[in-house]
Amino acid sequence: MRAVILGGSIAGLLAAQALTEHVDEVVVVERDRLLDSPGQRPGVPQSVHLHALVHRGLREIEQLVPGFAADLAAAGARAFDFGADTAIYNPAGWSKRFPSSLTIYGASRVLIESVLRDRVLAHPRVHLCCGRAVEGLVGDARTITGVRLQATPIPLDADLVVDATGRGSRARHWLARLGYPPVPEVVIDAHVGYASRQYAIPDRHIADWHACYVQLAAPHRPRGAVLAPVEGNRWMVSLIGVKSHRPTTTEDDFLRFARSLPTPAIAEVLAHATPLTPILATHATSNRRRYVENAHGQPTNLIHLGDAVCSLNPIYAQGMSTAAAAAALLARCCRTRPRSCDLAPRFHRQLARLNNWAWQLATTTDLSWPTTDGGPPTLLQRITDRYAEHVFTGATDNPQVASAVLDVLHLLRPPRSLLAPTTLARTLRATHRGAHVD
Ligand SMILES: Cc1cc2nc3c(=O)[nH]c(=O)nc-3n(C[C@H](O)[C@H](O)[C@H](O)COP(=O)(O)OP(=O)(O)OC[C@H]3O[C@@H](n4cnc5c(N)ncnc54)[C@H](O)[C@@H]3O)c2cc1C
Repeated sequence: MRAVILGGSIAGLLAAQALTEHVDEVVVVERDRLLDSPGQRPGVPQSVHLHALVHRGLREIEQLVPGFAADLAAAGARAFDFGADTAIYNPAGWSKRFPSSLTIYGASRVLIESVLRDRVLAHPRVHLCCGRAVEGLVGDARTITGVRLQATPIPLDADLVVDATGRGSRARHWLARLGYPPVPEVVIDAHVGYASRQYAIPDRHIADWHACYVQLAAPHRPRGAVLAPVEGNRWMVSLIGVKSHRPTTTEDDFLRFARSLPTPAIAEVLAHATPLTPILATHATSNRRRYVENAHGQPTNLIHLGDAVCSLNPIYAQGMSTAAAAAALLARCCRTRPRSCDLAPRFHRQLARLNNWAWQLATTTDLSWPTTDGGPPTLLQRITDRYAEHVFTGATDNPQVASAVLDVLHLLRPPRSLLAPTTLARTLRATHRGAHVD
């Protein structure tokens, strides 16, 4: 049995690893020519921006690819405790810090992918076909039987196909050409923009944090930023703004934007740091979800995962982790009935439940910006958003509330866990006291 994975990025590599125990051969088809050493490539333009691999993602990847974290560390990524070592300026002020088990690695997106690729491609059943774009699918009314590759007249035969071609996936066009009905799609776009660059960490830098995160807050705080260490003793800095506040790539604007944030913490350290890269920007940050599970008559052996099926506003740092959780789910689905003809529908039904957490978190918050396309928010979303403001106030006052918030951000608990009686009581007490720590 041969599985063909379309796209050799985070989602594709993890899906390949997940399938190794269940098929005879996995072929990963990637449009880019992949380098032997970590490097920027055209198919993943987002890798110039800061990427946080939240704890759920780290855990899922480590289970699928044992030794991944050790390899990251060996390649120069430093582990730190997100709860204790990340200074978070939330909508109500500085969030309480506390020792936690939320380990996070200071690593660039390029390094994360490269470490993963080395591990996955070392598996004897995984083969890479790179420098070839997928141009279509071959199949009948129920199944996909092959994949059409650029400049190759004979299709690559496949028993199982996984679409991991990311945000710009063309799978719906390929399926339409075969006569499959369209998949319903929802887009919620808060028009968030990023501008990022790397700096050398100054020798004399001293701070009581490793990473600093200034959150955005609708509707009054349309600017935020993240600064975090990456391999090579560098900082990766991403400035983030909504709609007319999207940062530009000019030198002066970058520092001016940092100084305009509600806390000077990031601007102060950048004033003494040496830039190492140009400033690069992106506006490709919409939330886009394809409801494959609701579409009738889809192929029974075509799996969609990663950004190809659910791409999220990156400010919530969930993309790589939802891709990892999806790959782990694929492994579980294959373990029970790997060759069954209901693999894809069964997987997509469960994936929808899994993606709901991240989708709810990202879209509920994004819909509270008046300029967001895809709204308006429902009554429940408006109430949830108001409650979230109180929870952030609670997090400036009480480490347990701060911990409950981080568990949701790290995808360890669903957003509704913030309504647990103890968190609710602590939140209300803090709000009642008017807690606000600057
Ligand atoms: C600005 C920004 C910041 C982000 N920050 C974070 C963060 O902090 N934390 C986090 O977890 N996530 C973050 N993300 C999301 C993260 O980048 C993705 O979720 C993650 O890379 C998983 O994506 P993927 O593998 O599904 O797709 P991608 O990484 O987009 O990869 C798709 C792959 O498919 C290949 N491909 C495309 N078309 C074809 C074709 N026709 N034939 C063959 N190959 C093809 C591409 O070359 C590429 O290799 C961020 C995203 C952006 C835009």
